[in-house]
Amino acid sequence: MMVEAIPIRFYERPPSRSELTDRFGRRLTYLRISITDRCNMRCDYCRPAANAYRAEPYSQILTFEEIERIVRVAAGLGVNKVRITGGEPLVRRCLPSLIEKIKQIPGISDLSMTTNATLLAKHADEIWNAGITRINISLDSLNPLRFRKLPGIDLAPVLEGIGAAMAAGFAPIKLNTVLVRGINDEEVPELIDFAAERNLTVRFIELMPMKHGLDWEKHYISIDEVLEQPEVRHRVDVDAKSETGNTAARYLPLKETKGKVGFITPMSERFCDGCNRLRLTADGHLRSCLPDDDELDLRDMIRNGGSDDDIRAVFARAALIKPEIGVYGLNKQAGQRSMIHIGG
Ligand code: SAM
Repeated sequence: MMVEAIPIRFYERPPSRSELTDRFGRRLTYLRISITDRCNMRCDYCRPAANAYRAEPYSQILTFEEIERIVRVAAGLGVNKVRITGGEPLVRRCLPSLIEKIKQIPGISDLSMTTNATLLAKHADEIWNAGITRINISLDSLNPLRFRKLPGIDLAPVLEGIGAAMAAGFAPIKLNTVLVRGINDEEVPELIDFAAERNLTVRFIELMPMKHGLDWEKHYISIDEVLEQPEVRHRVDVDAKSETGNTAARYLPLKETKGKVGFITPMSERFCDGCNRLRLTADGHLRSCLPDDDELDLRDMIRNGGSDDDIRAVFARAALIKPEIGVYGLNKQAGQRSMIHIGG
């Protein structure tokens, strides 16, 4: 997307704490940080096919010290919520040391992580001890064969990881399922039951047309269509008033338990009005909107001696260029980067 030229004086002046507000009055208080573009899964909707995928050389990925410095500056601008994501964050070595560093930054009051859970059985305790108490776990299917086809790995370690997270005490644990027509769209009732039996909340996410992702027109299914399925209506009170929190999800109550189920509708019902997010890619670019490729470089600026004021100025510019509405190219070749590069 083309962004109009920004008068340079605006972004050369470092903002004060209250100034990280975009042109539409949205305060930007949430930073999602991709700490690696490597992943041990091969989700078709997220990344190019294995032989077409090239991870960035390690030298191009932000160091923990660089990430910590960026978060410290962002916190000074009013960012109070950080989510660690990837790629798969648990494939990066020494992750607990980064968590401990971020946890100690004044102003950061909410630190969470998104993971595919394959390595959680091994790392749940150390992640918890380092200071993360709530996590989102991606779970697209409970069918081992289908699971292998979609995320490219066995289901067993994921289920073990979910168990380990529960045993470690993470709360809440949210399960995230990307809906893919023809692959897992018939599995919604089972996933609802799986979550309810464990007192977890599952959220269903509409497929977004990302670069190198699946053929969106073929595989997209709207939440409204899913809510028409008789087995879903049997479980979910679709006539209830949906509850929205401070996230992109809306929730409906389950009929037979006190639980709820979440729906995230980036395609059928956008939620840009309340967007408070910025994204930091693993290779050090600040992105003001998920589908908008107009990224700002922080890594090279920092490595060339940039000051904290320079970092503040980049955040200010990100706020200035954040579009009112995120526009997804419905052609899957739209955009420059796939989800695995951006960080979901
Ligand atoms: N590896 C971690 C995981 O699997 O949760 C974190 C990174 S992953 C990119 C973060 C989230 O983005 C996952 O829930 C994934 O399902 C979602 N995601 C990736 N590509 C997507 C797409 N094209 N549409 C909707 N969600 C997508």
